[in-house]
Amino acid sequence: MSTIDLSPLPPAPLAAALEQFERAAEYVHLEPALREMLRVPRREWTVHFPVEMDDGSVRVFTGFRVHHNVSRGPAKGGMRYHPSTDLDDVRALAMLMTWKSALMGLPFGGAKGGVACDPRALSNGELERLTRRFTVELDGIIGPERDIPAPDVGTNAQVMAWMMDTHSMLAGHSVPGVVTGKPVSLGGAEGRVESTGRGAAICIEEAAGRIGLDLPGARVVIQGFGNVGSAVARSLHERGARIVAITDVAGGVFRGDGLDPERLSRYFQETGSVAAAPGTEPISNAELFRLDCDILVPAALEGQITAANAREIRAKILAEAANGPTLPEADPVLRERGVVTIPDILCNAGGVAVSYFEWVQNRGGLPWTLEEINVRLRTMMLQSFDDVCRLAAEHQVDPRLAVQMLAIGRVAEATRTRGLLA
Ligand code: NAD
Repeated sequence: MSTIDLSPLPPAPLAAALEQFERAAEYVHLEPALREMLRVPRREWTVHFPVEMDDGSVRVFTGFRVHHNVSRGPAKGGMRYHPSTDLDDVRALAMLMTWKSALMGLPFGGAKGGVACDPRALSNGELERLTRRFTVELDGIIGPERDIPAPDVGTNAQVMAWMMDTHSMLAGHSVPGVVTGKPVSLGGAEGRVESTGRGAAICIEEAAGRIGLDLPGARVVIQGFGNVGSAVARSLHERGARIVAITDVAGGVFRGDGLDPERLSRYFQETGSVAAAPGTEPISNAELFRLDCDILVPAALEGQITAANAREIRAKILAEAANGPTLPEADPVLRERGVVTIPDILCNAGGVAVSYFEWVQNRGGLPWTLEEINVRLRTMMLQSFDDVCRLAAEHQVDPRLAVQMLAIGRVAEATRTRGLLA
């Protein structure tokens, strides 16, 4: 197999998010005023700010924060550091966060933010100065009652720690609840790092059970080996599934007998990529999508599954661990081919669920054990999974439409009930 061909920038995720919204809005007979309100973000900020680089030069970076809807509670959503991050991207992801929080029954609205930068090209010191300066720009916007950031692509617990520290210094006291996904030493929830992947694995196990697919021995392929992809790999491996292929931005690996996620993680720690791990064959993204497998898990970026590559997908289950990995044009193709899709706002909601636990813990000052968190996560994921299946069966609609109908219905009800001043 050849080496990876890096995919170009993903196609407009905002157009995809809006198309999905309009389709569901039609089904739930959303009144025109609410439709107009919910198709646009409530508030958005663009900031340009200087950062001193290690060589003494100064670079100006552009950052964004968007609140899509705050009717059900404070805005909640990740911070992304990626070269292609732009306002439309962030708008789309903020909208998805509104639906995801509502789908999980959480008292949050939806937000997203980020900085257009390549974090891999920055030193640790540059990353810290960028994060702290960006957090200062967001003063008055973020806060435990207003807007609670979390990690996303290109950010991690350390970035959240710098955000929390900077916000706390401005406030004059420690404000742990301003971000989630912090290190446990700062009030982070046990298991938050793996929670998105663990939640996706719970959904996959449930979906497999419902279609009569044995998870032990099932062949899994995963795009992305970051926070989410690596945790999905570990969780499914623990359940006996065989992870046969994984790609990341720098390359991909295939092993028919199954990859060992722990060994691969150690290799990744040393090299920064899964590419060329010992005992594996190289594989490209395009090859990954058309592999003969049972479960395909996109866990990288949006817009990866198009009508063209959907025709080649041979998986029985498509588990959308990434946000917006499937373009609307691909959905009918996947349905026609009988692929069971676990839509993103359900599949990757484990992260926001445990973020919610972390926020509750910070506000109550009473931490929970890993076991308590995992039990609550499982209960919440299975409840939402069941809600979606029931609504899909009742209305004879596909899971994508069902998750959107449920979520949009809940957000619409809250927005309607609060009235126009909310
Ligand atoms: P990450 O930065 O930790 O990892 C992203 C992974 O995708 C990396 O392995 C990277 O190499 C890979 N990647 C990037 N471009 C690629 C390409 N063209 N081909 C193949 N691989 C590529 O990010 P993450 O936190 O794991 O997030 C992944 C996805 O999950 C995103 O869509 C994110 O919005 C979503 N998500 C994350 C969380 C969370 O808790 N971190 C929660 C919900 C959803």
